[in-house]
Amino acid sequence: MPVSPLSADLLPYGLGSPDLVAVGEYNVHRDILPSLEKLSSLAAVRGFKLRIESAYRSFERQLSIWNRKASGELPLLSADGVPMPVPSDEEELMYAILTWSALPGASRHHLGSDLDVVDANACPENYEVQLTPAECDGMFAPFHSFLDEVFGSGEKSSFGFNRVFVPGRGKIRPERWHIAHLPTSRRLLESFSLDTLRHIYETTDIACKKVILARLDTLAEEYIYPYFI
Ligand SMILES: [Zn+2]
Repeated sequence: MPVSPLSADLLPYGLGSPDLVAVGEYNVHRDILPSLEKLSSLAAVRGFKLRIESAYRSFERQLSIWNRKASGELPLLSADGVPMPVPSDEEELMYAILTWSALPGASRHHLGSDLDVVDANACPENYEVQLTPAECDGMFAPFHSFLDEVFGSGEKSSFGFNRVFVPGRGKIRPERWHIAHLPTSRRLLESFSLDTLRHIYETTDIACKKVILARLDTLAEEYIYPYFI
């Protein structure tokens, strides 16, 4: 089905109608499917079962997470992962939310090319995955060594996948479980414009709106553009 120019332009922000397909209970961009199947097969050969824990997320969903953290409806966690009181200062609150959550409209999960993954074979029965560095160094360590090896072999051998949130790149904390199909995300991000994102915020009921708009250029330099790889 042809996509209208307007909806195509809104795809980087989690708006419009992305071309999604279901993989289990999650939706991913249709274009990553052949590569994802190859990566999953390679993992299976090595004894790992690649399981998706999160994939496509709409603007509305990310906005709901953001606003509920700001209101205290969802727990706000400090950098150490400890629940903290909701700061009354709007700028402090914004940075507290940013510690663990992306700005709505600027989450790579809007693209459908990015996934949070674990090794289902390493999960104890009834274990609820948290997506934490401790898990990556613990039960999922062999899986991550495997991914290191695959990603280190170059973009062609990794079927286009790599990690995005790595140490030394921007201000988002490293997330080893988050992988991206770069040929797809690059294509989708070509039409990203900070002016469009600003316009979306101006017309959206988003917590910390004033300070987000005032700091948007800096936020983009620290939390958005470093991950356009
Ligand atoms: Zn993620």
